Amino acid sequence: CGIVGVLGNHEAAPILVEALKRLEYRGYDSAGIATVNGGTLERRRAVGKLVNLSDLLVHNPLAGKSGIGHTRWATHGAPTVSNAHPHQSGKVAVVHNGIIENFRELREEIVAAGLKIETETDTETVALLTQMHMAQGDDPESAAKKTVARLEGAFAIAFLFDGYDDLMIAARNGPPLAVGYGTGEMFVGSDAIALSPLTDRITYLEDGDIAVVTRTSVAITDAKGKTVTRPIKTIQIES
Ligand code: GLU
Repeated sequence: CGIVGVLGNHEAAPILVEALKRLEYRGYDSAGIATVNGGTLERRRAVGKLVNLSDLLVHNPLAGKSGIGHTRWATHGAPTVSNAHPHQSGKVAVVHNGIIENFRELREEIVAAGLKIETETDTETVALLTQMHMAQGDDPESAAKKTVARLEGAFAIAFLFDGYDDLMIAARNGPPLAVGYGTGEMFVGSDAIALSPLTDRITYLEDGDIAVVTRTSVAITDAKGKTVTRPIKTIQIES
């Protein structure tokens, strides 16, 4: 039930796991992370406590300075490794909090387009739909935006793309999602607590917002596709 993301200057995996620990208070049944390393997107997922994910990472490390992470509170599909986030289809990985209400309808389209459903989750449809658009020639930004425009329900989503070490896309409609500003680094997270040791400069996205994030830029559009500026708040960092 938490999301983190980092486009950083250090190895992302330990930063993501640490940030997920700070979101443990929300409860979860499984966890996972994905990184892009020299263009290659890979993920690791584990059921149960974060220590299981950490152990997995000891034996199967994930390199890369860009990544997304998730703690899951299952709503659709049992808490298994295959249902854990990040969900990946082709060149796209996503983490999601909330519920995609129209996922059954979206699945029909996805299957008709020749892609395969591999999990029981509502979230997988987000990855599949985005991959479908990219396979049709869309770049990651337009593919993610076309996908988000189709989603009904409550969601905070972060996208990461194979081949793109300096790109993360975040979308919010319901559950909170914040962008955190570093120096030559950028973060996303469910709340300020997740990001608190990383940065004290935070922008909360509003419902309908999509943020296209690189290490040096954040471009936010609202539900109508209009470019918007959201205030940057300086939060108190707890010690
Ligand atoms: N509905 C999604 C799932 O069951 C996301 C749950 C969550 O918010 O962690 O996988």
